[in-house]
Amino acid sequence: MKLLKEQNNFRILPTLIHQGKEVIINGQRMLNLSSNDYLGLANDTVLLNAFWQTVKPEEVKFSSSSSRLLTGNFAAYGELEDLLSSLFGTEAALVFNCGYHANTGILPAVCNTKTLILADKLVHASLIDGIRLSEAKCIRYRHNEYSQLERLVETHHKQYEQVIIVTESIFSMDGDEADLPRLVKLKQKYPNILLYVDEAHAVGVRGTGGLGCAEAYGCIADIDFLVGTFGKALASSGAYIVCRQVIRDYLINKMRPFIFTTGLPPVTLQWTSFVLRHLAGYQAKREHLAAIGNRLRAALREKGYSSASVSQIVPMVAGESATALQIAKELQRKGFYALPVRPPTVPEGTSRIRFSLTADVTDEEVEKLISIVNDNR
Ligand SMILES: *Cc1c(COP(=O)(O)O)cnc(C)c1O
Repeated sequence: MKLLKEQNNFRILPTLIHQGKEVIINGQRMLNLSSNDYLGLANDTVLLNAFWQTVKPEEVKFSSSSSRLLTGNFAAYGELEDLLSSLFGTEAALVFNCGYHANTGILPAVCNTKTLILADKLVHASLIDGIRLSEAKCIRYRHNEYSQLERLVETHHKQYEQVIIVTESIFSMDGDEADLPRLVKLKQKYPNILLYVDEAHAVGVRGTGGLGCAEAYGCIADIDFLVGTFGKALASSGAYIVCRQVIRDYLINKMRPFIFTTGLPPVTLQWTSFVLRHLAGYQAKREHLAAIGNRLRAALREKGYSSASVSQIVPMVAGESATALQIAKELQRKGFYALPVRPPTVPEGTSRIRFSLTADVTDEEVEKLISIVNDNR
């Protein structure tokens, strides 16, 4: 604890009040630039009211009261999973309580000692934990360095029954993107390679139907484990995998965070389905989000803050935690709630302000933010 404090890495839970896209902390009102509500749907009261029209108050269930394998498998699960597999055009879909469950459960369920996992160095902590819980051997490759990955595949694929390449599509801390077409090509060169892609930050945001990067690149069918979450752009909670039927059957039987937990509240599942049905219609929001991301990135680059970001997640790397903290404080004082991200979430010496843009942020708000960052420099 003492060390964490000395290093400016000690964390506390903030107390805040939400008002639409703004938050109020200690009486100060700020634009929330730290939310994953990428399409602004969590604050869309018109959408919420439309949803309540579709359910009868006396039928609303806030608990499923059991594991899905016992009595928790409400009809709303079947409806959501059918909708997912029809939208993605896959044989099957399976819903989980959250992305953390999905990522800590899927790999341990499908791996054994004859599995090799090749994981990007920067994959999310939930994937790291899943890898640790699995029996597979794991090698991490340098972030998005596919020539290294190709060498690893070539060297090792014959010694294992299966090789699973694990990546995010849009990376959560840098906002950059995996090269899915290249990974698909690599997979197709070998008989025993499987792809696992986490689209937590891309679903809702990418693809003409809002289904993520795999949709945008036309490679949904080439990804064996296509995982996404409902807690970010979809303004709900839970997570999914779209996959072949055999994988779904396997997970239902083997995946501990699927089996040993109470299912999601049926009302949450209904809301998720409701939002999913609207997802294709949000192309204008996706375009605006991309445009403000481009604008902010270009302005930061001009100020010497370059990054690999290509998405709504725009990092401003400050270096030391103390510097990041100080910049964040200054931004907050001027009405922008952007948070510093520090080790161990990001590597030592790369503490940063992580701007997480949402579709309800206006062009004017982005310009004001840019002018403040300019003043700071
Ligand atoms: C947020 C996130 C998760 C966890 O999802 P939850 O539903 O919040 O548990 C998993 N993977 C990535 C890449 C994420 O950003």
